[in-house]
Amino acid sequence: MATITLQNIRKEYGSDVAIENMNLDIRDGEFVTLVGPSGCGKSTTIEMIAGLTKPTSGTIRIGERDVTALPPKDRGIAMVFQNIALFPHKDVYDNISFGLQLRDFDKAEMDRRVEEAADTVQLNGMLDRMPSEMSGGQRQRVAIARAIVREPDVFLMDEPLANLDAELRVHMRTQLQRLHSKLDTTIVYVTHDQAQAMTMSNRIAVINDGRLQQIDPPLTCYHEPANRFVAGFIGSPAMNFMRGEITPTGFESESGRVDVEFDPAAIGVSTGQDVTLGVRPEHVIPVENAVGEVTAPVETYTDVMEPMGDEIFVYLVTSRGETVDMEDPSASGQILMNVGPETPVEADQQLSVVFDKTNLHLFDADTEEALAHGLAEPVRVDTGTTSADAEAESDD
Ligand code: ADP
Repeated sequence: MATITLQNIRKEYGSDVAIENMNLDIRDGEFVTLVGPSGCGKSTTIEMIAGLTKPTSGTIRIGERDVTALPPKDRGIAMVFQNIALFPHKDVYDNISFGLQLRDFDKAEMDRRVEEAADTVQLNGMLDRMPSEMSGGQRQRVAIARAIVREPDVFLMDEPLANLDAELRVHMRTQLQRLHSKLDTTIVYVTHDQAQAMTMSNRIAVINDGRLQQIDPPLTCYHEPANRFVAGFIGSPAMNFMRGEITPTGFESESGRVDVEFDPAAIGVSTGQDVTLGVRPEHVIPVENAVGEVTAPVETYTDVMEPMGDEIFVYLVTSRGETVDMEDPSASGQILMNVGPETPVEADQQLSVVFDKTNLHLFDADTEEALAHGLAEPVRVDTGTTSADAEAESDD
């Protein structure tokens, strides 16, 4: 087991900056997932930890050791990639033990490790199979077993489930969680799939455009996203956003159709400030079903409906007949609502909805940083003011 520390990492490819000032502290035995859209720098980051790519500047430590200049084989890591390259003419035993054979391992010790690894990924009894006789999921488990037998301090996994079909991917998600609790090894995992990130990780590191946006437990990223990017990326279907401004009594949207009452002073925002309101589809509620602290009703029309069986996605528009901008549906008044399957909604009907105030988010319109989470009793987001500054302010 080992910690992994990335300190002021920068990676340039020619004149392109792939990673900008990345600082990450991964704890001993932790499962951390790097998540973000394609091209954000996830693979570059994990390849730098592996030693397959050198950072342009900055330091990487595994445990106490500075590994920045070490080759991959000296870092105590094992990698599993999206494209598993098994030897087609070797059986499962030889595929799993290949790395150990190269290092002239004692046969009895090799047998022990292979059997234990095969047991961990449930491949017992298949050691003499050829890769062509196995399913995609089984082959992926061979690749994982091959990494396990090396008994690494750190596992690095780059989209290992991307080539599997949806059902198998869900199955392997639970397998990987079990593997982590059994091995207790530090795991860094790369995916663009937020479902994998949310379900498996102790913490997720959300990356966008080469910059770390937030590193926190999955539910903290969901309930307290650090900024608008994280808010929009984590959670499916995505959060609705509405531009507007702070009024003396709370928030009013640009369209004038959405009002939220709260005390601006409680979160340290001032009248006239441009902000973005965020509400998740599951926190948009037909007015008849409203319970608890909710906003004033918003008049909408149901547009498109997507019945999923266990839930219904309802696309609402705040003015009938308005063309919805595909690039920015929220800006043209579209609000996505997620309701239970029994909710009596039909297409093209008038519907008053309210928002659950305890689950609303406010972001600065310019910096996109979060200002508050939960507007029933608003929780101000600490924007980096030190306690010394706060004390000085309260003395004024
Ligand atoms: P992700 O894994 O999040 O999809 P990558 O780490 O692969 O993203 O890429 C981050 C950025 O670096 C992208 O803009 C990509 O085009 C660029 N990049 C990655 N590898 C190379 C390379 N070998 N040469 C030039 N640019 C690269």
